[in-house]
Amino acid sequence: MRDLIDKLEKERHLERDEYSALIGAASPELYEYLSAKARDIRHRIYGHDVFIRGLIEFTNYCKNDCLYCGIRRSNKNAARYRLTKEEILSCCENGYSLGFRTFVLQGGEDPYYTDDRITDIVSEIKKRYPDCAVTLSIGEKSRESYQRYFDAGADRYLLRHETADALHYSKLHPPELTLENRMRCLRDLRETGYQVGCGFMVGSPYQTAEELAQDMVFIQDFRPDMVGIGPFIPQHDTPFAEMESGTAELTLFMLGLIRLALPNVLLPSTTALGTVDPLGREKGILAGANVVMPNLSPVSVRKKYLLYDNKICTGDEAAECRNCLQSRMKSIGYDIIVGRGDCAPDTIKNIKERSNQNVNL
Ligand code: SAM
Repeated sequence: MRDLIDKLEKERHLERDEYSALIGAASPELYEYLSAKARDIRHRIYGHDVFIRGLIEFTNYCKNDCLYCGIRRSNKNAARYRLTKEEILSCCENGYSLGFRTFVLQGGEDPYYTDDRITDIVSEIKKRYPDCAVTLSIGEKSRESYQRYFDAGADRYLLRHETADALHYSKLHPPELTLENRMRCLRDLRETGYQVGCGFMVGSPYQTAEELAQDMVFIQDFRPDMVGIGPFIPQHDTPFAEMESGTAELTLFMLGLIRLALPNVLLPSTTALGTVDPLGREKGILAGANVVMPNLSPVSVRKKYLLYDNKICTGDEAAECRNCLQSRMKSIGYDIIVGRGDCAPDTIKNIKERSNQNVNL
């Protein structure tokens, strides 16, 4: 299997059956081999820098009914909340003073936030913090809506594709949600000019190495700027309450593969990874990830944005979260940096230039 890792490192491309064989053979030994290469390439491009994004979970109302998600509309036990524009701006103010230069507005698909409301919020953030990037993660919209948010100043958009296999997609979602529309959204976002993030859950119900291989093929073809992955974790009020969590080990393995396939990609070490393993976020960075997303949401609502059970960091103030992550990153030899943290351009050139400069690996 090491030869397949060598091939991926060299060609940044594998066939689906090759990915499938590699993922099916994941073991601690193979992971050692893979993660050393993934770290190496990450160090060449991003050094030991870790980018931070301030996550603002501004609404947990959702019109969708994704079977895995704790804020699905059928969950009558979810205590719903919305942040006002002023509350969102105050999260940004706090975040800015803590060194955040990217704000990620994430939420359920909440019809209360019309395009007018979203554009109003985005343009106000950009007016107050012109040196910051605004990322939206608010689900499936029309191309026109994406264009309006972009024109208001949104720079980036995160929309996990969840799984690149249509049949698998249909097992995770109600019939009105289709992979076809998800992919349409991702294409529209790219064409509108956003830096685009896709991604998936590792260990989601019914997923096998085959589906993960398909995710890898999609990612290497689509070439997103960011890939958000984390383990699936059951939420007790969903139809998947009794399903097993994805593992940290397989998530780390997938992070390594993604780093080799897309050397310059922005790759978060996620809260879900930190939930299944107390050192998950550190391990994610050591697997090739280069982004962490501390929470800037007011503590009063944190416990309500419960996509899955036992979510970490729901009791800490933003400053505590930031400091905690800072010291966690320091403990493994990495540094959180202040800045927008854009995706490194032109990977191949970048790697060559850095190698020529004998950058310390
Ligand atoms: N509504 C937006 C969307 O659909 O893109 C953004 C919010 S959605 C809750 C953000 C992500 O949370 C989803 O893309 C999904 O991958 C993740 N998520 C939801 N439920 C989860 C669970 N039980 N375990 C792990 N991740 C989950």
